[in-house]
Amino acid sequence: MSETVYDVVIIGGGPAGQTAGLYCSRARLNTLLIERMILGGQVMITTDVENYPGFPGGITGPELMERFQTHCQEFGLQVTNGDVQTIIDEGNIKRLKVDDKEILARAVIIATGAEPRKLGIAGEKELTGRGVSYCATCDGAFFRNVPVAINGGGDTAVEEAMFLSRFASKVYLIHRRDQLRAVSLLQERLQANDKIEVIWNSTVQSCEGDNSGLTHLILENTLTKKQSKLETQGLFVAVGVTPKTQFLEGVVELDDSGYIITDTQCQTSVPGIFAAGDVRQSVLKQIATAVGDGATAASVVEKYLAENE
Ligand code: NAP
Repeated sequence: MSETVYDVVIIGGGPAGQTAGLYCSRARLNTLLIERMILGGQVMITTDVENYPGFPGGITGPELMERFQTHCQEFGLQVTNGDVQTIIDEGNIKRLKVDDKEILARAVIIATGAEPRKLGIAGEKELTGRGVSYCATCDGAFFRNVPVAINGGGDTAVEEAMFLSRFASKVYLIHRRDQLRAVSLLQERLQANDKIEVIWNSTVQSCEGDNSGLTHLILENTLTKKQSKLETQGLFVAVGVTPKTQFLEGVVELDDSGYIITDTQCQTSVPGIFAAGDVRQSVLKQIATAVGDGATAASVVEKYLAENE
């Protein structure tokens, strides 16, 4: 019996992967999307999405992803669960090692996205799940009427601080500089929220706890180098993301931060392997840009397959 060779295998089921899946299935390509956990990617842990066009008033992340999934099903996209270990390039065939089996494809679209960056400080790992969290949407409600801290100064940190202020008695936003990176609209909302206090020019040096979990943080002022103690049972880390490309070392060209380098057509350094969404080196990482990438990658794959019959 001959092995199935898919026209295209998409790795990752966030907005980029699902959009690529929708376009490829609609183009009648034999398409398989491989997802490690659940479809939706980082959007699944986003409370409100208010800058994705077509949804005035906003939509929750999980609701938006459910719509993406329903839309993909309309075109018969095949989805399977699996953890891709590596991709072996054999020219017109790409051999994917997925758990303990192999999947063959003529073209691959990598859309594995990114995951929250760790601080890499003492106590962080040990107290993860016991006070230290990377997802306010998931864990925020555990911190009712107690003070919590959030570390970071980007859009995620500010959005999560606002979300946490619904539950917590007080939210300390710890930022390493004296200026936030988040967009102005979010900064305005932050200023108007009297439950949030920004601790400027400060980094978290360590997470301290006991058997019950996190008890306090040691902060350091970046200007004076003075250390202080902040009592809190919750630390939300929102210091950016790192691309999920560990399995691609030596497969496609990556930049110094681990993002996949592509041309404007989402083509990686290997012909027939494409990348879309947050995993790709790009200037903007939004749902809208991930969707654009997914559509671009799919249409370029269609041309690539036609030229490499
Ligand atoms: P980000 O924009 O990269 O911001 C990371 C923040 O963490 C920065 O303020 C950075 O400080 C700080 N930081 C980084 N490493 C640190 C460390 N080791 N210790 C302390 N602080 C550290 O990350 P993000 O907020 O997760 O956003 C990621 C992308 O998603 C962005 O492109 C963002 O625009 C997008 N996003 C968009 C929305 C939206 O449109 N609604 C929502 C969420 C995220 P510095 O400022 O000093 O560098």
